[in-house]
Amino acid sequence: MRDAAALRMIDPIPRLGWVDAPSPVTALPRLASALGVEFLGVKRDDLCEPLHGGMKMRKLDYVLAAPPLSTAAAWSAAGGIGSGNVAALVAAAQRLGRRVHAHLFWTDVSRGVLDNLAFTASGPASIRFYPSRAELALARPSLFLPLRARDDDGAAIVPLGATSALGMLGAARAALELGAQIRAGELPEPARVYVPLGSGGTAAGLAVGLALGGLRSRVVAVAVVERLLASRFRLRALTAELRAALARRGVAPVPPAAPIDVVHGHLGRGYGSPTPASLAACDALAAEGISLEPVYTGKAMAALMAHARERRLGPVLFWQTARREPLPRHDGFCERLPAALSRRLGAHCGGGSR
Ligand SMILES: *Cc1c(COP(=O)(O)O)cnc(C)c1O
Repeated sequence: MRDAAALRMIDPIPRLGWVDAPSPVTALPRLASALGVEFLGVKRDDLCEPLHGGMKMRKLDYVLAAPPLSTAAAWSAAGGIGSGNVAALVAAAQRLGRRVHAHLFWTDVSRGVLDNLAFTASGPASIRFYPSRAELALARPSLFLPLRARDDDGAAIVPLGATSALGMLGAARAALELGAQIRAGELPEPARVYVPLGSGGTAAGLAVGLALGGLRSRVVAVAVVERLLASRFRLRALTAELRAALARRGVAPVPPAAPIDVVHGHLGRGYGSPTPASLAACDALAAEGISLEPVYTGKAMAALMAHARERRLGPVLFWQTARREPLPRHDGFCERLPAALSRRLGAHCGGGSR
């Protein structure tokens, strides 16, 4: 019953209310036995209705409900050209009548990247393009350092990956939702919950939520960004930030977060670059009717599969954090991109290859 009690305590914290019904858990018995895992379930956030689903929707449910984002006419956000966070924001802007100032840096163009970019360009967004994450960070440091609430142009800043105490609260709430499903007998209590590790909010929020709900599961966070960004230190800081925010809002007691194992070795060439193992994991899940993308969820699933080959894992839950696809797009979206970006996209935008 701890999940129900915890939910009652966090219920007064404002959110947009987009997340209502729990996302279903799909059991994959065939893949489980092929991997030698006693239970393998997938928590299907891709099936959530608002904003085309995905974990970002859960974070934005809280992040966009607080000022100044809740009242600003425009939101400013940074991300890769295929940023799922920026795409989710554009969907939210469409729904709420706002605009997005998207500051996008170059990454490889893998499946899902062009889909997100086309959707972003087709929506109420203006795009600025930077050749690398470092150049974007130098040009607009306020988008990376959570020191200011507004950008130079007055737009309210959305934290990177929507990871803030409020964003993490969306993930913690998701863990309580899972706790209720376990209690209802929909799935066994997982020993491990696999997630991608990007900005860290998903892993940290789930770890706090799992503990709050009285579950004994650990989080396995598979790094999809460079080591410096995906450190144990950062995750500790994030869980501490969320626990402090909960305590300030009268949620007590807030237990220590569930353990988080940080897994390196699945990044490949870098953020946004698919690996052979992540592409193979996408294929394996596609055969089960579940669509992963290769730069977050594919890498997390590749780690799960590698671990299953090495040792006994107990019951495993894979959190499908990606949205559904494909997203709607405008046919002429390339014309809405900055020239330097459409040139760089080459054949993807009807140009010659570079
Ligand atoms: C953003 C994102 C995540 C979340 O990772 P964080 O560590 O919370 O940033 C996971 N999966 C996908 C597909 C995403 O786009």
